[in-house]
Amino acid sequence: MNTEQLDLHAALKKYFGFSQFKGLQEEVIKSIVGGEHTFVIMPTGGGKSLCYQLPALLHEGTAIVVSPLIALMKNQVDALRGISQENGIAHVLNSSLTKGEIKTVKEDISRGVTKLLYVAPESLTKEENVEFLRSVPISFLAIDEAHCISEWGHDFRPEYRNLRSILKRIGDNIPIIAVTATATPKVQEDILKNLGVTNANTFKASFNRPNLYYEIRPKTKDVDADIIRFVKQNEGKSGIIYCLSRKRVEELAQTLQVNGLKAVPYHAGLDAKTRVKHQDMFLMEDTDVVVATIAFGMGIDKPDVRFVIHHDIPKSIESYYQETGRAGRDGGEGHCLAFYSYKDIEKLEKFMSGKPVAEQEIGQALLQEVVAYAETSMSRRKFILHYFGEAFDNETGEGGMLDDNMRYPKKKHEAKDALVK
Ligand code: ADP
Ligand code: MG
Repeated sequence: MNTEQLDLHAALKKYFGFSQFKGLQEEVIKSIVGGEHTFVIMPTGGGKSLCYQLPALLHEGTAIVVSPLIALMKNQVDALRGISQENGIAHVLNSSLTKGEIKTVKEDISRGVTKLLYVAPESLTKEENVEFLRSVPISFLAIDEAHCISEWGHDFRPEYRNLRSILKRIGDNIPIIAVTATATPKVQEDILKNLGVTNANTFKASFNRPNLYYEIRPKTKDVDADIIRFVKQNEGKSGIIYCLSRKRVEELAQTLQVNGLKAVPYHAGLDAKTRVKHQDMFLMEDTDVVVATIAFGMGIDKPDVRFVIHHDIPKSIESYYQETGRAGRDGGEGHCLAFYSYKDIEKLEKFMSGKPVAEQEIGQALLQEVVAYAETSMSRRKFILHYFGEAFDNETGEGGMLDDNMRYPKKKHEAKDALVK
C-alpha cells in the first residue's frame, strides 16, 4: 500500500477520535502498512492495540490478530464494533461459537467486511480454519502479547510455539506485526527466532515510569501491621495489594476490614459474581483497596491507582514491573512498595521443584534477578531499566520520582543487611 496517499492522522481521528499518535505509533503503523515485518516493544498502556487496529482498518483484506485471552479479544471486538456500527468489522473465531456463528464470521470475511479477526492460537491450529484462512485475502498477522511465545517470558503458552508453521501455511509473504510489553533482550530474541523473522523493523519505547516511586522493605512478622499503617496513611486513595496465595488474600483483606479500612479480596477461587462485584467496587471507588492474587489486573484500566503493595515478592522482574505498572497510569504519583524476605524466595523455589528441569533453570535465573533487585543499593529504576536493556543515567530522578535507594542512600552491604537481618 502506498503510505504517501494515506492520511494517517485523518484516519486516527475518524476511527478513534484521537488527534495525535502516542509515542512511536505512527512510525509503527507506517512500517506495517508498508508491508514490512514489524516488532513493537512498548510498556502496558503504551497503545499497542492501535498499532495493528488502525492499519487493519485501512488495508484491503482481513488482519488476523492472535491473542491469548478471550476476555481481551472480546473487549477489543466490542470497542471496534462501537466505532464502526458495522458488526462484521471485527470477529472472534473460537471454539465456543455455534455452527451458525462460524458461518457468519466466514461470510463476513469473504465479503471483505471483516477487517480484524481475533483468534486464540489453539483455534488457529484447527485444520478447517487454516484451510479457510488460506483461501481469503489476509492483510497481515498481528501477534499480541508476543512474549507468550518465549519460555523466558513471564507467561509462556505452548500453543504460541506452533504459530510459525501455521502462519507459513496461511500465506508465505504475509507481513507480521508482533507486539509485547516484555522488554528483556532474551525474550525479544526468542520471539523473532520462533517466528522465523530475521528482518523486522523494531520499535522500542522507553520503559521508564518517572512517576512511580519504588521501595523495598524487609518483611518481618509485623508485615500486616506495616501494611495497615501504610493503607491508613493513604486512606481514600486507590491501591492494590498482591499476595501469593488465595488464603493470604482472604486473611489480609479481613485484617484490613477489621481495622476499619475499605478492602475487598480478589482471586480466581471466588465465584465469578463476587469477582465482578469486587472489581466494580474498586473501579467505582466503593472500596479503596483490592487485596488480590495476580489473577487481578490484566485488562483493568483504573488510571488513579496510587499504590501497589507486594506482600510477597513476585517471581520475576517482568511480573514485578507489570504489577507495579498498574499504579499511576494517569501520570500522577504511584507508590510501589514490596516486602522482601529471603524466605519467600525459598518458598518460590520450592514451588518450582516439581517442574521440568529446563523450566526450573529459567525460573531460578529469573528469581536470582529478583533477589539482586531487592538487595541492591543502586537506583531501583536504573536496575529495572537495565534489566530491560535500556540505558539510564538519571538516577537522581530529575523531573521524576526517586526510589528508596536514591532518596536514602545506603552503602552496599547495608542494603543487604537491612533486608536479611
Ligand atoms: P497496550 O496494549 O500497549 O497496553 P492499549 O492498546 O490497551 O495499550 O492502549 C492503552 C490506552 O491508550 C487505551 O485506553 C487507548 O484508547 C489509549 N490510546 C491509544 N492510542 C492513543 C492515542 N493516539 N491517543 C490517545 N490515547 C490513545
Ligand atoms: Mg495490549
